[in-house]
Amino acid sequence: MKKSILKTLESEIQGNVYSTKEFREFYSVDASSYKIVPKIIVIPKNERDVIRTVKIAKEFKTSVTVRGAGTGLVGSALNTGIILDMKNFDSIRLGKNHVTVGTGVLKGNLDKVLEKSKKFLPPNPSIGSFCSIGGMLGNNSSGSRSLKYGSMIDNVEEITFVDGNGKKIILPKNNKKSKEIIKITNQIDCKKFPNVTKNSSGYRLDKIETINDTHKTIIGSEGTLGIILSAKLKIKNKPKKRILFVIEYNSVIKAATNCRDINKTNPSALEFVDKITFDQINYKFDKKSKCLLFVEYDDKIKSNEKKIHQIITGKIVKKLKTDKEIADWWKYRDLSLHYSLKSIKKEKRIPHVIEDAAVPLKYLPKLFLILNKINKKYNTKSIVYGHAGNGNVHVRLISERKKISIIKNIANEYFDEILKLGGTITAEHGDGLARSEYIKKQYGAKNYEIFKNIKKYFDPENILNPGKIITTKSTIIQNLEEL
Ligand SMILES: Cc1cc2nc3c(=O)[nH]c(=O)nc-3n(C[C@H](O)[C@H](O)[C@H](O)COP(=O)(O)OP(=O)(O)OC[C@H]3O[C@@H](n4cnc5c(N)ncnc54)[C@H](O)[C@@H]3O)c2cc1C
Repeated sequence: MKKSILKTLESEIQGNVYSTKEFREFYSVDASSYKIVPKIIVIPKNERDVIRTVKIAKEFKTSVTVRGAGTGLVGSALNTGIILDMKNFDSIRLGKNHVTVGTGVLKGNLDKVLEKSKKFLPPNPSIGSFCSIGGMLGNNSSGSRSLKYGSMIDNVEEITFVDGNGKKIILPKNNKKSKEIIKITNQIDCKKFPNVTKNSSGYRLDKIETINDTHKTIIGSEGTLGIILSAKLKIKNKPKKRILFVIEYNSVIKAATNCRDINKTNPSALEFVDKITFDQINYKFDKKSKCLLFVEYDDKIKSNEKKIHQIITGKIVKKLKTDKEIADWWKYRDLSLHYSLKSIKKEKRIPHVIEDAAVPLKYLPKLFLILNKINKKYNTKSIVYGHAGNGNVHVRLISERKKISIIKNIANEYFDEILKLGGTITAEHGDGLARSEYIKKQYGAKNYEIFKNIKKYFDPENILNPGKIITTKSTIIQNLEEL
């Protein structure tokens, strides 16, 4: 008699295999509003275990979904079959201007190692130390400093991964594979890709300019093309000096309009915080203040200090120069999601599905007007904060939880407007269960066909995180967790 998938995994995997209710419940949720209970959890000990898991899953026609730290906001790491927790892949090998990291490494642990050599990895999601390198690669994560230094996709030299056939591949080193990828992807219609500085939607085939870029296919693919084992990441010298300005504005539109001029001075970060968030900061802002901009420079401090006074239309309330002061104020910005949740009653927290769009910077004021229109029409309120310099704002909608069906209408309307402006439906958190159904609309039928071909190339039997990125189903309001 044929052994069950569980028994097969238990006998062949050197790491851990779990199927008890406690484990399945634990891995059924992440930081999103979704819940999907998996069948089996595998914690591979080594690369052989990853390959065996994929091959066994293929044999038993079960899915494999890789998970990092589970801090994703759109359920990208949730699925029904096997969940692969990469926490044992925790090696860190430091080179001169790069570091080779196992994908289970938590960002905070990498930061500590880099700090000793006065280096840093530029993408810095606001979740801070808690996310894993695998998840950051899976989502093409970014953060406040991505304005100057790019997202994960711009900071990786090499990716080692296992594809849906159980084959270990290194890109861009594998020339044969790289050539085949180029063959599939060179027909993309670049005009249909969003005209923004950050984008985590679909497959980032627009980033493949030469044969040395083929690893970028995997970055941002949310575990649907391969399970990344390790990555060679670019690192930078820590800036010797920084300066952070906190600027208050009596109008959101004025602040959004000012971002364009501020951005021309090449700040290392340009972030937006609305009144609900700054009301939680222990500081007396002007009563008329409606929002803040956080503007940071990490070079040409003196000349930028002069310049900023000439271009801003708001009022500087803080000029911070020491590492401690700067870190303390960034904490306020990084806690925006927490502050926003704190200020909304549980029954009024509706799932965040339009929380991460970005538009070309010149349209940032328009994005706020679109939100106002939506709030009026659906009788919702919104809390807004985010990476203004990239035209990327995070939106937390407030409405009666029982009116959940309006979410889909709001998403349809909001995303239509974002696409009209040449924007992206997600700049950093990824598509997951909330946005995969909109990818065809985002990129057009031709590009979507190419996405499907890339998926088929790496995962012909659709066992890697099925239902994400390539999908025919609507999942935006399915599988929502009960409150
Ligand atoms: C409070 C808060 C603030 C946040 N701020 C930001 C922010 O500023 N910027 C930002 O970009 N994100 C932000 N996020 C979203 C999220 O934290 C990040 O995108 C994070 O990098 C995800 O990492 P993770 O390890 O938790 O990934 P998970 O949630 O575990 O997984 C995310 C995706 O990556 C895939 N994946 C994981 N490991 C691998 C692997 N080894 N190989 C291939 N794919 C893999 C998964 O399948 C999944 O699709 C925030 C989240 C929270 C809760």
